[in-house]
Amino acid sequence: MSEQPDFKQIVEGFIYDYPVCEFHFLTPEELVFSDKVRVICREDCTHYGKSWACPPAIRPVDGCIAACRAFSHVFLFTSVAQVPDVMNFDACLEARRDHERMTREIKAQFEKNFGKVLALSTGCMLCDTCTYPDAPCRHPEERLSTIESHGILIMETASRLGVTMDCGNDVVVYISLIFFNA
Ligand code: SF4
Repeated sequence: MSEQPDFKQIVEGFIYDYPVCEFHFLTPEELVFSDKVRVICREDCTHYGKSWACPPAIRPVDGCIAACRAFSHVFLFTSVAQVPDVMNFDACLEARRDHERMTREIKAQFEKNFGKVLALSTGCMLCDTCTYPDAPCRHPEERLSTIESHGILIMETASRLGVTMDCGNDVVVYISLIFFNA
């Protein structure tokens, strides 16, 4: 009788179809959480108060952290893109859009294989202009919140795990997380 593939084999069966640079199988315990991240969101982030996918529109940070910890596994992946100039906002925006599109496709693969998941990425880019706060979200099932909005210190996490975040001048690196049960 042939053995059932384990969850890593299932993921490896589809992940190479995507232009992922690096990936890691983790547990929530390996992520660096801090309920102080919302202070950084509020003071430093251009998404804050501008999107249904980000604070203060989403639930309080302790609820977000609990939602992450309710899953048994985390899949972390990165993509890289060469841009003419990392300071060129439009060029980086297009690269980020590609990463978000790929994240939604990989999320769908996880849902197909493992059921309910939680995907976090670089922030919702589904609409040219977010309806927040004047009208309901146009795509509540598809929108992705940022990793930081869920109380995760992603740069500290990446550093601890040895994730490559510096690929040289004019190369941007984006990270997403998929929480799943297996
Ligand atoms: S899907 Fe559209 S309306 Fe909803 S959070 Fe994203 S940008 Fe805003």
